[in-house]
Amino acid sequence: MNEKQNLLNFTQQSLDIFFAELGEKPYRTKQLMQWIYHQQEFDFNQMLNFSKPLRAKLSEIATLELPQIASTNFALDGVIKFALELGENNQIETVFIPEKERGTLCISSQVGCALACTFCATGAQGFNRNLSTAEIIAQVLIAQSYLADKNQRISNVVFMGMGEPLLNEQAVYAACSLLLDDLAFGLSRRKVTISTSGVVPALERMADTTPVSLAISLHAADDKLRDELVPINQKYPIKKLLSACQKYLNSGTQQRHIFFEYVMLAGVNDSAEQAKKLAKLLQKLPVKVNLIPFNPFPQSRYQTSEATTIKAFQDILFKHGIRTMTRRTRGDEIASACGQLAGKVVDKSKRGDDRRH
Ligand code: SAH
Ligand code: SF4
Repeated sequence: MNEKQNLLNFTQQSLDIFFAELGEKPYRTKQLMQWIYHQQEFDFNQMLNFSKPLRAKLSEIATLELPQIASTNFALDGVIKFALELGENNQIETVFIPEKERGTLCISSQVGCALACTFCATGAQGFNRNLSTAEIIAQVLIAQSYLADKNQRISNVVFMGMGEPLLNEQAVYAACSLLLDDLAFGLSRRKVTISTSGVVPALERMADTTPVSLAISLHAADDKLRDELVPINQKYPIKKLLSACQKYLNSGTQQRHIFFEYVMLAGVNDSAEQAKKLAKLLQKLPVKVNLIPFNPFPQSRYQTSEATTIKAFQDILFKHGIRTMTRRTRGDEIASACGQLAGKVVDKSKRGDDRRH
């Protein structure tokens, strides 16, 4: 017997094909998506505008399966961290960050991450597997229904949780399609952001595949230091990365800009000289820089830059005409700030612990 298909993996387009193959009319897609994404109904038998035989057929061949919440943690500043159970001893984490005028959900794209950036808790854990579209979308559905009871709303979604989204292109792009689809989450393309450490070939494809916003995790302005902090730089150095960014900026009909993320590591990448180098590198591009104070995690080897150092770094970028923000650290007492997400990962990359020291 064939395994049942989880319809949370399906975009509007693939549902059209699914229903066509069942001999059903195209409006079934709209009806099903409304049940799932607008009514949060996951039981086919309750979908009363479907005929009885269709309900029976769907129950026989398909599911709408969401992971269970393993735990929910609350920080004093309102940040909520959800850990979701994925079976085989793996868990992923999703974080909701409420702000005055928006609510950002930070979602995971992989169980762990193989890219081993030296300042990242997820990278320190190794890698198990990619998430499916359903597992990505479930993070939004679960957080959304949890928050609805508390009168809170998700206005922005960022792929800044566990994993490298551009190493899981297909599932991430299908998830983006649902995030933007009015029949599902209906977010605008500016409110969905893919953050990448710089997987250049995928980045070159991204421009033609999804219109969502882009953040680049740069963290160093020269290859020598970036090779060390973000090892994928050894494969795709800064020059190649920036030319892929240029391609992204030139494509599409709407005007685009890029966020550059720069984690502030005391005595490593936070000098005035490095700020000038960064300014020079980015000067000609329509970018915004986000300085992220380093968030420590168990066994991390770095210290966070002093607030005065971060301010001085930011001032230099300002002086060169680069729009720069320093990100406020949120939710760190429950280990849910940027780069602290660890979930539970059964490491299959067999990298072991050697890179933590
Ligand atoms: N893999 C993607 C997305 C997940 S990481 C990427 O690297 O962009 C999300 C963001 O958190 C990235 O900008 C990453 O560099 C940053 N980050 C990772 N570890 C951090 C830490 N310990 N402190 C602050 N930011 C961190
Ligand atoms: Fe992976 Fe991003 Fe962490 Fe680097 S910073 S290890 S790419 S999750």
